[in-house]
Amino acid sequence: MTKSEKKSEKKVKQEIKTHAGDAVCKRCHAVYFGKHWQTSPKLYAEFKARRAAEILCGECRQIQQKDGFGGEVILKNITAAEKTEIIQEIKNIGARASRRDPEDQIIKIEDKGKSVRVTTTENQLAISIGKQVDRAHKGGKLEIKLSKEDKPVRVVWTAK
Ligand SMILES: [Zn+2]
Repeated sequence: MTKSEKKSEKKVKQEIKTHAGDAVCKRCHAVYFGKHWQTSPKLYAEFKARRAAEILCGECRQIQQKDGFGGEVILKNITAAEKTEIIQEIKNIGARASRRDPEDQIIKIEDKGKSVRVTTTENQLAISIGKQVDRAHKGGKLEIKLSKEDKPVRVVWTAK
């Protein structure tokens, strides 16, 4: 073992000990610690053994975005007053879904003025967001456009 290897070994041990809220990227196996993503097979093994959250790192999220997404939700006719609340609801729905299944994630929430566009990794999450927002805000109109296999689902919700 070289001196620098020894040093990095020590560093890894320290990081394992002090890190809280650790996560691993399920796609590229990067590990999240010290507030950023790093590649360390050793830490990856440790984190996996400790059942760290399996999510997507920033880079993989971007790749997935380029490759497309699983579902899309368009929320239309939203007033500025409702928007903050609705965006928070969507974030909460996304967080709950990711806790149940790490594959379910919100890729992006885009504020487009009177509408909000949300892209998700999985179809089911898009449908779930549409249904939950619809339930919480009476009088809106929900449309779920299912598409052929493996194509994204489009959910459109129009506020009253
Ligand atoms: Zn990754």
